[in-house]
Amino acid sequence: MKWEDNVRKVVPYVPGEQPQKKGIIKLNTNECPYPPAPMVEKRMKEIAYEDLRLYPEFPEQTSLTAELAKYYHVKENQIFVGVGSDDVLAMAFLTFFNSDKPIVFPDITYSFYDVWADLYRIPYEIKPLDENFCIRKEDYMGENGGVIFPNPNAPTGILMDVNTIEEIVKANQDVVVIIDEAYIDFGGVSCLPLIEKYDNLLVVQTFSKSRAMAGSRIGYAIGNEKLIRYLNDAKYSVNSYTMNRPALAIGAESVKDDAYFKEICGKIMATRERVGEELKALGFRFPKSYSNFIFATHESVPAKEIFEKLKEHDIYVRHWNKERISNYLRITIGTDEQMDALIAALKEILGK
Ligand SMILES: *Cc1c(COP(=O)(O)O)cnc(C)c1O
Repeated sequence: MKWEDNVRKVVPYVPGEQPQKKGIIKLNTNECPYPPAPMVEKRMKEIAYEDLRLYPEFPEQTSLTAELAKYYHVKENQIFVGVGSDDVLAMAFLTFFNSDKPIVFPDITYSFYDVWADLYRIPYEIKPLDENFCIRKEDYMGENGGVIFPNPNAPTGILMDVNTIEEIVKANQDVVVIIDEAYIDFGGVSCLPLIEKYDNLLVVQTFSKSRAMAGSRIGYAIGNEKLIRYLNDAKYSVNSYTMNRPALAIGAESVKDDAYFKEICGKIMATRERVGEELKALGFRFPKSYSNFIFATHESVPAKEIFEKLKEHDIYVRHWNKERISNYLRITIGTDEQMDALIAALKEILGK
């Protein structure tokens, strides 16, 4: 017997590269190219030593949960906040996926799901997307221990309509269904209203993409009060105070400025549509995106080759050496200037 026999061995999630080199164009981890709301900067400057000396507010009663509750017209006890939606999702896996039956999620999806399932020893069954990369709803309507998928799905950007989500939630009332809406603010329709009708639905969102605050690590879940209570019980059994006072304060400021939020999401969507046309003209094909990225394949040049050559131009996009998607690139939508530089580099690489 060796001590290593008793180690919880995991194959960790691999995030996109975070190159420290200056002056690169970073289109590989779906960050927002615009700054957070102006009041966030102002509030940052007011952060005092008191905010460091004191413990944060109780996790379920913070300035942030209060603002989110107002914004989404739900009660404060219907909101769970965490250190990015990764923290929220990990806690939700731990709390809700305790069946002997496998949880279900797609083969092409956020690659953290199987990592959490392995970490917590949750059985899972992977359901292949159809040939157009769409989720087949029937796959999620049989017996299972729980359901999770992003909507829009990542990294495809494909949106499922709320009626189909309702069918899935309805068919699974004996388990918890988690919809990961990390990219919902880029033109999708949220299934949030369904939480009033179904107490087994948990909707998870994040400040990392549409609110331009990936570095502050803020995520949240909204659902029935009972679901949220169970989540808080589990959280209080691991580490009660995970979010720090500055993050709670600036998160609340961000939610107050809806005009700015809509403005930056609108700009990203407009850029996405424009760049989409230019990519098509260069021979790329991709499903219609409802996110802040485009998941594209080229008609003749392999994705890996384009990926490597873009790096030589100091432009970073995301590529996976993974079955079914190895000939695709996920390109985050940046500013118009960044995307112009991308298109110029692609023209050179493709000889157009
Ligand atoms: C980015 C992302 C997350 C997590 O983001 P956080 O920064 O932890 O909030 C969760 N799910 C999907 C599908 C994502 O793309």
